[in-house]
Amino acid sequence: MSAAGTAVESSADVVTRLRGAFRTGHTRELTWRTTQLTRLRALLTERGDELAEALRADLGKSRKESYRTEIDFTVREIDHTLERLAGWLEPEPAPVPAALAGATAHTVQDPLGVVLVIAPWNYPVQLLLAPVAGALAAGNTVVAKPSELAPATSAALARLVPEYLDTDTVTVVEGGVPETTALLAERFDHIFYTGNGTVGRVVMAAAARHLTPVTLELGGKSPVFVDRDTDLKTVAARLAAGKFLNAGQTCVAPDYVLTDPSTAPALTEALAAAVESLFGPDPATHPEYGRIVNERHFDRLVDLLGSGRTVTGGDHDRATRYIAPTVLAEVAPDSPVMGEEIFGPVLPVLTVDGLDEAIAFINDRDKPLALYAFTQDPSVRARLLAETSSGGVGVGLPLAHLTVSDLPFGGVGESGMGNYHGRYSLETFSHRKAVLDTPLG
Ligand code: NAD
Repeated sequence: MSAAGTAVESSADVVTRLRGAFRTGHTRELTWRTTQLTRLRALLTERGDELAEALRADLGKSRKESYRTEIDFTVREIDHTLERLAGWLEPEPAPVPAALAGATAHTVQDPLGVVLVIAPWNYPVQLLLAPVAGALAAGNTVVAKPSELAPATSAALARLVPEYLDTDTVTVVEGGVPETTALLAERFDHIFYTGNGTVGRVVMAAAARHLTPVTLELGGKSPVFVDRDTDLKTVAARLAAGKFLNAGQTCVAPDYVLTDPSTAPALTEALAAAVESLFGPDPATHPEYGRIVNERHFDRLVDLLGSGRTVTGGDHDRATRYIAPTVLAEVAPDSPVMGEEIFGPVLPVLTVDGLDEAIAFINDRDKPLALYAFTQDPSVRARLLAETSSGGVGVGLPLAHLTVSDLPFGGVGESGMGNYHGRYSLETFSHRKAVLDTPLG
């Protein structure tokens, strides 16, 4: 069926068609799965430049950044899966109790059926296609809903996916709230949602009507603790690179920094120097520095700029949706910038009296998607790991933990539920079926 054909198809018809395809049984075969993954990989490698152009139009992303964080990232995730999928699908034997001597037991990874993937705008290729790859690896058919807030990328995905994958395998449904609401009225076998917690609740409520399991990949304020014993030049370089990637619009971006009063002045100066070394004296003209997705987010972020003393940045231009990489010092815990996930290029530095106060500060707030620690002291690292809860932890380097395909990626509490990447995607999109086989004779 053509892309134009799917545009007029109702949500109910799309799901019925994909369920019919699933029921043929073909999707269970390993060769079907590897063929779909190989085609998806070909889309990314052969048409990467078209996706990069769309990402530039939506988010001002450079070609280099688009390949690194979206296209090549997803290719690596697919390659990791292709190399290991057959092994992951091997039945896993389980010992049986003495009373069942002679019987054998094992588990298999059973495909679920029709999966709905709903993606956000900030990494609109990666966050749609990496879950789609996981759902296909697990032998499902997929409805893929890109974000309407990255319209060029959404259009590119809707055009390219049917060129590489049969629409009975993956159907891309474009649209915003009305279209997603219509999809959510249907019964899916799993819903995988990435975005904010308010809509996460809408998705979970809709899923509850059909008792459909959900994965919610949400966000939140990911804290950074900088100990006094660290090399601040290295810390600042790594923090600035992680924070200002995609103009700060990254779910696991360092949201705010906690450090002690004697370290804060040197750290904020080092951050200012790191920003200049990354983006030069005028980041507005630097090809690797992105733009804010839309005017609503631009206005929201500009309102946060007055939350502290500006150490660097603060400039902004609504016409081009540019906000300079900004570091704020002397930020109060109750200031506007601390009231919500920043999701933009503003980095507040707050002071705490030490590790105890930092841990209490983190634990007084929602469980974050990531926690970052910069310290040379193993006992500080151990206490942060043991005494705080977060989706993941990066010691010494922000963001990079999500590039490790053998690590699960997901949140906890307000930052989400469930996880994916690599083998964890297979588990998310499969049912682990228990089988006990008892001989009759
Ligand atoms: P968004 O506005 O693009 O929304 C996400 C998706 O939800 C879109 O496809 C949109 O069409 C759909 N949607 C919006 N309103 C809806 C409604 N009322 N009913 C049904 N569907 C609806 O993206 P966003 O929410 O602004 O994304 C940013 C948030 O996502 C941040 O909080 C960020 O931290 C989080 N995030 C998390 C991850 C992760 O992997 N955990 C990754 C990226 C972003």
